[in-house]
Amino acid sequence: MTIGNRFARELPEMAVRWQAEDAPEPRLLVLDESLAADLGLDPAWLRTPEGVGFLLGTALPEEATPVAQAYAGHQFGHFVPRLGDGRALLLGELTDRGGRLRDLHLKGSGRTPFARGGDGLAAVGPMLREYVVSRAMHALGIPTTRSLAVVATGRTVYRESPLPGAVLARVAASHLRVGSFQYARATGDHDLLRRLADHAISRHHPDAAGAERPYLALFEAVVTAQAALVSRWMLAGFVHGVMNTDNMTISGETIDYGPCAFMDAFDPATVYSSIDQGGRYAYGNQPLVAEWNLARLAEALLPLLDDDQDAAVATLGLFRTRYNELSSAGMWEKLGLSGDVDRALVEELLTLLHKGGVDYTSFFRALSGHGELGADFDDWLPRWRALGPDTAAMDRVNPVYIPRNHLVEEALAAATDGDLAPLDRLVQAVSAPFEERPGLERYAAPAPQDFGVYRTFCGT
Ligand code: AMP
Ligand code: MG
Repeated sequence: MTIGNRFARELPEMAVRWQAEDAPEPRLLVLDESLAADLGLDPAWLRTPEGVGFLLGTALPEEATPVAQAYAGHQFGHFVPRLGDGRALLLGELTDRGGRLRDLHLKGSGRTPFARGGDGLAAVGPMLREYVVSRAMHALGIPTTRSLAVVATGRTVYRESPLPGAVLARVAASHLRVGSFQYARATGDHDLLRRLADHAISRHHPDAAGAERPYLALFEAVVTAQAALVSRWMLAGFVHGVMNTDNMTISGETIDYGPCAFMDAFDPATVYSSIDQGGRYAYGNQPLVAEWNLARLAEALLPLLDDDQDAAVATLGLFRTRYNELSSAGMWEKLGLSGDVDRALVEELLTLLHKGGVDYTSFFRALSGHGELGADFDDWLPRWRALGPDTAAMDRVNPVYIPRNHLVEEALAAATDGDLAPLDRLVQAVSAPFEERPGLERYAAPAPQDFGVYRTFCGT
């Protein structure tokens, strides 16, 4: 295994060399062995003290140059010119079995020069939440950063109460964000902005290099990738929770699982984040927010587009078109149908789901023949049936197992108290989300009535 330093070499202005903090009593909690193997890392070695040191960033190969990355971002609409990795480190890039470059990155590895008032640390619960939710997303076929491992540090982290600390090792196509471009733009250094764009083209959207206007093509590629991503979130009922521009990738992968959750009862106004009081990042707002974030990317790229605002606006307009196409087609597929989408039939269904407070995920499995629909669909059903839905195809796109909020809470609470068994079982269920298995009934069931209004906290 060799660990590269391409980001640090090509974009030194955005990389601060830094070292992970030591952990007093490290203990490996979870490891994605199949991901490890993909990266050419031996899972058995990763379980040794040396391997755990590697996962903590404290025992790295000689050539590694870990860095904290600089980026900016709009947080809840307010621009912050210098955010950066306050508690994270890019260890470097690995080449996976498919020959692709993958970032290996830590979260919770100690304060960096970007930490401001933060302690640089992370708690076991939120890091395991990222682990389980990102595994579920990957198994659902939704582009996402991956979680390689979570290591408990043996250090106490102080939040509202004292909590056990942890470091997450995550893997991404890269950690370039909309906020990375905003940072480069805000420095006023156009050469840096151009090198960042060239780096992004080469790593994620190589076809743009051959286009007549490569930087406009890069923007279009990001618009397209994000339209695809957000349509997948919406179809799966996923609420990201903090869609700040620093939490939106250039690659089109989901990143930064904080107060994220899968929706239980269908309601566009669903918000899970305790800090999102205005509902800016509610389920139903996500496409609009993604478009808003992409407008910020366009602004950052303008100097590379010869300040051609018309071209930028026209390309941004593709987001809506692509998003609408993909979400309609995806919903039609969830209904087991092919051919022209009947928008009215879909809209009526969503209204019925909303009015009836119907569990979004369970509904589609029930519809294909596995149980109670949970509300009155008497007028709607015959019209749907008349279209000849393919129920076997439905079961290939509608998951039976998702990381339901009550199950995630139960598993994280147990893990925080030292019992990893519930988390392991949940991970097993969501790792094969479409395949119904005996004995896993409680993983398919909606939240109990008394679960109440669910809020996740910032994940810090
Ligand atoms: P997030 O909302 O997790 O994307 O984080 C937003 C910003 O806050 C990023 O710059 C993080 O690096 C920083 N941050 C979050 N939590 C901490 C922490 N405990 N210590 C230092 N920086 C943090
Ligand atoms: Mg973030």
